[in-house]
This record gives sequence, structure tokens and C-alpha cells, in this order.
Amino acid sequence: MNLKQKQAMLEAIADRIINREVEIELAQSCLNPVPGEGNADAELMFIGEAPGAKEDKLGQPFMGASGKFLGEMLNSIELKREDVFITNIVKFRPPKNRDPNQAEIKASMPILFEQIAVIRPKLVIFLGRHSMNVFFPKLKISEAHGERIEGEVVLADGNKIIQNFLPLYHPAAALYNGSMRNTLLGDFAKIPHVLELIKQ
Ligand code: URA
Repeated sequence: MNLKQKQAMLEAIADRIINREVEIELAQSCLNPVPGEGNADAELMFIGEAPGAKEDKLGQPFMGASGKFLGEMLNSIELKREDVFITNIVKFRPPKNRDPNQAEIKASMPILFEQIAVIRPKLVIFLGRHSMNVFFPKLKISEAHGERIEGEVVLADGNKIIQNFLPLYHPAAALYNGSMRNTLLGDFAKIPHVLELIKQ
């Protein structure tokens, strides 16, 4: 698929999200759906948990304090937000920022797999334990952060692919915690090397 085709397919997916065509109540209760955004051909795809208040207002992912920190970390490895693709497991804000429940996560997965199937990123980066645990329920973020995982993913079309993943602490958790912040910055700095290894 060339870039234009990928962009068109991602836009078609985003339109379904914006039209609230996902079978969960959150899709009706939120202010603005948040499909995700960025480079359709991205090597890196970042996956958070769910939109918060600011994201819900703007319809874009990671726009608050943690988004600002994410932007700074991207700059530290010479990337811009537009170079990567940023999205969430759940595309609609849960009321009062509660964690999405299992049914909401389950209903959200097919469309996330569609996005992965179009972008085919070299590396999927989990922002926080919640998004990591959706794919790897048994892992603990305190042990798994900063370590590449090779996993098998079954895409929407039934094709199985080997996908590389990298769990990181959530920027919101690390923002005001000095040691976690340093750990996250250190893990982030590993990303270019991890990418190189994958491409070899
Ligand atoms: N936290 C998330 O997990 N996602 C966002 O989009 C914003 C904050």
C-alpha cells in the first residue's frame, strides 16, 4: 500500500469513529471521538488508554500535560508528533476519566487492529500499563518497561503478523515523579536503537 492509500484507509476508519459507529455507550456520551492522528506510514505507533477531558474537547489524542511531555520526549529523539501515529485503545472519553471497562476495551479492539493493519508500524509503543495489559495481561509494567517484546497479532483480515512492542510508563504517571520520569526518559532514549535492531 502506498502512502496515499494508507491515508485514505485511515481516514475511512477515523470517519467511522467520528460517526460513533462503535457499539459502546461511551461513543454516545463523549463530546468528541478521538480516532488518533499522525503519519499513516509511521514506524512508531503510540497507544495510550483513553482520551481525557482536553482530548475529548479537541478530538485529538494526548493534548494535555502528558501530551506535552510526550512531545518533548519525541523531540529528544529528533522526532515530531507528525512523524509518528498516536492513538488510544478506547477512542471515546470515559465519564470522569474512569478506566475503561473490559466490555469497552473488547468493543474497541477491532478498530485498533484495523489501524495497525493499515499503518503496519515497525514498533507499537504502549503508553502505560493499561494499554500494555490489553495485549499482555500478565506483564507488570515495573518489569516490562523499556524491553522489546515480539508478539503475534491476528489482524482484522485474519492474517497473523509478528509485531514488535515496547511498553513504557504512562507520561502522566511519570510527569510529577522524578525517578519514574528519569526511567521514562531513559526508556524513550532506547527507541532509535530498538528500531535499528528491528530493521536489521
Ligand atoms: N492519556 C491517555 O492515555 N490518552 C490520551 O489521549 C490522553 C491522556
